[in-house]
Amino acid sequence: TVHVVLFTSDLRVHDHPPLAAAQAAADEVVPLFVRDDAIAGAGFAVPNRAAFLADCLAGLDAALRDRGGRLVVRGGDVVTEVAKVAAETGAAQVHLAGASSGYAQARERRLREELHRQGCRLTVHHEVAHAVAPGAVTPAGSDHFAVFTPYYRRWSDHPLRAVLRAPRAISVPDGVGSEALPRRADVAGTSPGLAPGGEAEGRERLASWLRGAIEAYEDLHDDLAGDGTSRLSSHLHFGTLSPVECVQRALEHGGPGADAFVRQLAWRDFHHQVLAARPAAARSDYRTRHDRWRQEDSAGDDVAAWKEGRTGYPIIDAAMRQLAHEGWMHNRGRLLTASFLAKTLYADWRIGARHFLDLLVDGDVANNQLNWQWVAGTGTDTRPNRVLNPLLQARRYDPDGAYVRRWVPELAGVAGHAVHQPWKLPAAERAGLDYPEPIVDLSDALDHFRQARGLH
Ligand code: FAD
Repeated sequence: TVHVVLFTSDLRVHDHPPLAAAQAAADEVVPLFVRDDAIAGAGFAVPNRAAFLADCLAGLDAALRDRGGRLVVRGGDVVTEVAKVAAETGAAQVHLAGASSGYAQARERRLREELHRQGCRLTVHHEVAHAVAPGAVTPAGSDHFAVFTPYYRRWSDHPLRAVLRAPRAISVPDGVGSEALPRRADVAGTSPGLAPGGEAEGRERLASWLRGAIEAYEDLHDDLAGDGTSRLSSHLHFGTLSPVECVQRALEHGGPGADAFVRQLAWRDFHHQVLAARPAAARSDYRTRHDRWRQEDSAGDDVAAWKEGRTGYPIIDAAMRQLAHEGWMHNRGRLLTASFLAKTLYADWRIGARHFLDLLVDGDVANNQLNWQWVAGTGTDTRPNRVLNPLLQARRYDPDGAYVRRWVPELAGVAGHAVHQPWKLPAAERAGLDYPEPIVDLSDALDHFRQARGLH
């Protein structure tokens, strides 16, 4: 018998339930990746993620070749291509990982119908892209949790499946045609400091994280300059690392840092279970606050300054420049810049979320859109009207200003925390800096937001 394994956001051989199941049940396995026209058509195949994906596919192909197999790559409509490969090889089953977006749910339905028509079965494996699958834990009377704390309690009590070994050998049927693998070098327009992708890289990063920095995570995760987070998000997004394995290994490691890290992994599953239950939350407000957000027509100049990192608020500009340079931004930076766009500039959160998705290598519909909604106060935050003050936040999370000096070279010569308020520097020193004045007054902006939300 032949089984097909359709890889999507699970580009690994370790701890991969679909591959393990196919390998155990079938004589031959077709590991398949489809360059899906719909994903490119929807603007999701942006350079940073396309480049990272190329690394991941090269790594997956190499890992399969080490085991006697190879990766088959096709391009086009995913359902048509899978059906074709299944028909060409006479496959009895196609294995797929469960996913949360509306698009992934529709893909699964279409695949099931199309394969059924040709006498082939679709098997969907859960807990491939999640430690706890969407819908596995639910509160009484609802299909998802809308508040994190009770979710986290149930998530923590949910038994984790065992971590699976990578298969030792894989036999791919002869003659299955494949396109050439995409190459990272062929992708133009990537961020200069983009990290490499691929399973080997992800596993090495996880191992070194567990060997060292995880210890200090609880204390340092919010320290912008200290850069003390795992930077595993892109690997979790592309599935070069298994969330089940990350949780299991962190729990084995133990300690407050590991506990705090596991809690963040639960946030990832939390947003996925919200999106799986409410796929429209990728675009529409999860909770309506009757905002009349400014759009590009009235907020265009402010939005451009925000994107380019020249708002005149150094902490905001530093974070936006980190995003442009690395295709990644520290979580505290994401919170600050998103709050600044949505609540201080009062621009539609969707404009900011789209810009993040254009650049973030970990850019993910569930985590990006629902974190943006959380910050904008249209999502699951239980304090939807709080506004982060960039100056207070800068003093707290970049107390010495090192993060600003790293990313805003115009201010590199300003010592200490004075770097957060260049407008307060002595006139002669200020005049020598090629750095803009603040584009907005914080207290006017706060008044405007409160009025807009009917809080006066
Ligand atoms: P660590 O601090 O090491 O955390 C470990 C893992 O936990 C992360 O890799 C991530 O998978 C998960 N995680 C941590 N925080 C969150 C969170 N708030 N929500 C969901 N999962 C979390 N994360 C994405 O993966 N993709 C996105 O597109 C994305 N967009 C965001 C947009 C905004 C406005 C905000 C505020 C946050 C966003 N996040 C997103 C969440 C978070 O900022 C990143 O996951 C984190 O910064 C990645 O860095 P790390 O791997 O070093 O995280």
